[in-house]
Amino acid sequence: MATNNTDTNGKKGKVLMIYTGGTIGMLPKEEGNPLSPLVPANWGKLKKFAPVLEYLPLDVALQEMKLIDSSDMNPDYWINIARVIRDNYEKFDGFVILHGTDTMTYTATALSFLLENLNKPVIITGSQLSIGQPRSDAVQNLVTSLTLAAAKSFNLPLIPEVCICFNNVILRGNRTRKVSSSGYSGFDTPNYPKLGKAGEHIKIDTKVIRKPSTEGFFANENLEKNVMLFDIFPGISPEILNSVFGIEGLKGVVFRTYGAGNAPTNEDFLKEIEKAINKKNLAIVNITQCNQGMVEMGLYDASATLSRLGVISGVDMTPEAALVKMMFLLGQGYDIGTVKDQMQKNLRGEQSVNVFNFVYEDGKADKVYKAPTKQLPAGFDKNMIVSVNIRIDEAILPKEVKQEEIELAVFMNYPGADENTDTSIPQCLGVLKGIYNGEPVNLILGCSERFKQVINPDRPIQIAIIAKNEHTVRWEGAFISVYTSVE
Ligand code: ASP
Repeated sequence: MATNNTDTNGKKGKVLMIYTGGTIGMLPKEEGNPLSPLVPANWGKLKKFAPVLEYLPLDVALQEMKLIDSSDMNPDYWINIARVIRDNYEKFDGFVILHGTDTMTYTATALSFLLENLNKPVIITGSQLSIGQPRSDAVQNLVTSLTLAAAKSFNLPLIPEVCICFNNVILRGNRTRKVSSSGYSGFDTPNYPKLGKAGEHIKIDTKVIRKPSTEGFFANENLEKNVMLFDIFPGISPEILNSVFGIEGLKGVVFRTYGAGNAPTNEDFLKEIEKAINKKNLAIVNITQCNQGMVEMGLYDASATLSRLGVISGVDMTPEAALVKMMFLLGQGYDIGTVKDQMQKNLRGEQSVNVFNFVYEDGKADKVYKAPTKQLPAGFDKNMIVSVNIRIDEAILPKEVKQEEIELAVFMNYPGADENTDTSIPQCLGVLKGIYNGEPVNLILGCSERFKQVINPDRPIQIAIIAKNEHTVRWEGAFISVYTSVE
């Protein structure tokens, strides 16, 4: 009873199949010697293994690129694929890219950034066994991908995104990770739901796909290659950081840290990071080594300092997404401030929240500290706020004080606040407390509800920090981090 999704509505869909190589199209290098290494073959030699393509109610055109093992994929190649799509955009309903699985995730991510205002499906697929092998997954992956690319003519919801379709799941490309080197379920999106599933019927979850763009489509053509992905590990030496950050021409680093974004706290390590940001002007983005979950800088002391030094949060981006997004933003020629700001905003569905950081320099509260006002970004919508944290880093009391509780009340948009102002009024975002015993203390407080109540999108943010202590309180930095939902 398998009729659904093979019936067209009378209109034959048009798909451009862009073939780049990869296992899907590989044959043994020496004909007749199945043990010789696999290399990509021309489509002409492969099509006999997929006779079903002849019977699909589709017009499939082929664009054969330079055939490679995807281990040789690179940014120039991504730009070439984007150009092919741009040049053929109006002629086809959708695009299927046949690609090796090894770097498929990177390519999917890169295309998601390069193809601006996409409103047609771009489906990337490949296989774990080459198309000529009896148990190959190639034909199934290919036919489902072609069907998705011609969604309209199969009465399926159109996915205006760059996707990976593999082993009957449809995934947002820039959220994917290759999770198995040989299993048929080779890809997953650990931080995002599947866009759809293919069984007897193809089912698309229209709630989680992106909305089609109403702006004109175009292809970006610049990517900055001087970036790197770097894992920290226990025992990492400052010398290693020093030589990594010292690489000539390096512009940005995706820093893979532990858990919720934590890293060693020793001074030498942190000094190297500070130098890289302040002297070398590098953009450093913090993402987690965990497969699932997100960076929450400031949740632990072990990440609070990174954030104060100017490391930016990659929230729940995959390593591939963070790296390629950095290539993309640096490639646009933006200044470093804009790159850092945009890295923390969702651009193509690659991250689950936007981060807005309001950063205040060091300060001191004899009693009352009035921070400089900060503008809210245009279009800021308070209804999208998911959570808000206030952090005050490295708070100290005068030397002579041995042990005492530090208490700092934070007021927003209440110019008259002083030490006598009642902390139960709505304009008080909360009171940060910590025990000072001679060592600097980091203070953090969640204040989403109060913040939402007080924020006025038409007015800048004005903060007052009031010390409830007898003595002067000093600190190294104060931050308000606002997380907003992306859709
Ligand atoms: N090495 C191959 C490639 O990425 C692996 C594959 O396609 O599965 O091109």
